[in-house]
Amino acid sequence: MPKHSPSTLDPRSPLVLDTRELPRRPGVLRTHKRVVPAPADLGVELIGVPEGADLDLDLRLESVSEGVLVSGTVTGPVKGECGRCLREIDDSLAVTIQELYAYENSTTDDTTDTDEVGRMQGDLIDLEPALRDAVVLALPTNPLCREDCPGLCPDCGVHWDDLPADHSHQQVDPRWASLTQLTRTEE
Ligand SMILES: [Zn+2]
Ligand SMILES: [Zn+2]
Repeated sequence: MPKHSPSTLDPRSPLVLDTRELPRRPGVLRTHKRVVPAPADLGVELIGVPEGADLDLDLRLESVSEGVLVSGTVTGPVKGECGRCLREIDDSLAVTIQELYAYENSTTDDTTDTDEVGRMQGDLIDLEPALRDAVVLALPTNPLCREDCPGLCPDCGVHWDDLPADHSHQQVDPRWASLTQLTRTEE
């Protein structure tokens, strides 16, 4: 794979940061506050940010000697399903981003791997990979509607919250037990 692939970033894309307004002089800062639509598949299997939902970017772009340091927070809604009872989960998420993007042909560009330090493409920064990593790390792999969700009765599928405390499917009465036997033999 060629080290410097041709620029494929679209400056109009909501998660592409344009640094043309940021002088390449260490210490110069610009803030980047914007609400953008969430990209597709931002999340994990059971929970994630719905596509098109409002993502609130509150970022700081800072010129450093070898590139641009992007830091700040991204907040947005998350929707998912409880891993125990399948009830819908409506929540929100705030992730912190801190990522250095090296200028093309800088020493950092020449001496580091792209998975260690991000790369700029010309004046553009693709925020999406860092955002995805942060969101996936912040989301639970087994989301719950609440910490102590008891889940569903495995026999009837009813939420334990909606069942009496002594709910059980065990046939304790021997008369019922023999009835069950009868039905089984007829089958
Ligand atoms: Zn639940
Ligand atoms: Zn049950």
